[in-house]
Amino acid sequence: MSKTGIQSVCVFCGASPGNDPCYEREARDLGALLAAQNVSLVFGGGNAGIMGAIANTVLAGGGEVIGVIPDYLVEREHAHKEVTRLDVVGSMHERKRRMFELSDGFIALPGGVGTLEETFEVITWKQLGMHAKPIIILNTNGYWSKLKELVAATVECEFAAPPTLDLYTMVDSPEEALAAVREQATTAVPSDSGRL
Ligand code: AMP
Repeated sequence: MSKTGIQSVCVFCGASPGNDPCYEREARDLGALLAAQNVSLVFGGGNAGIMGAIANTVLAGGGEVIGVIPDYLVEREHAHKEVTRLDVVGSMHERKRRMFELSDGFIALPGGVGTLEETFEVITWKQLGMHAKPIIILNTNGYWSKLKELVAATVECEFAAPPTLDLYTMVDSPEEALAAVREQATTAVPSDSGRL
């Protein structure tokens, strides 16, 4: 991260559009904000669903888009051919590590189990003290409310400690999401991401 603010945000989101136009719409709103504020998008490199929608909006706004995709998913996930940079890597692990290293923070939009896995991996890395980057969950249309309840239950049932609830921030709009990344990135205590 530069001293003047964030340079890039990794967005985890669905390779499908979901069943309501509000999901793509909010992804596009976030993409427009990223481009307008000169923050690069780091994402999974696909040109489908919400992933494609946010990438295309950042590009249309003149912003930078870096896609990271494993070689075996290039066809299956319709790798985006027009991004600023497409890193084709050898494995899913390499993808997630590269996306982590390239980003000052993370925003999760609605998505499926792939999105859940990516989001929970950075949450658990943070729990283990391996990094201190902001993790923001954008609760479009209340999509993630049940997730919030589930994480609260892990604390209530004493399978997790109360600070677990502070590992991520859930917000209701793209504006709040980007503002939260900015705010938390400047207050984050540097940690040892070399242990990832
Ligand atoms: P989905 O949320 O299931 O639509 O998937 C969104 C993205 O997550 C896609 O680019 C998937 O390739 C990716 N994904 C799926 N499984 C994993 C995984 N185990 N680790 C990281 N990303 C994954």
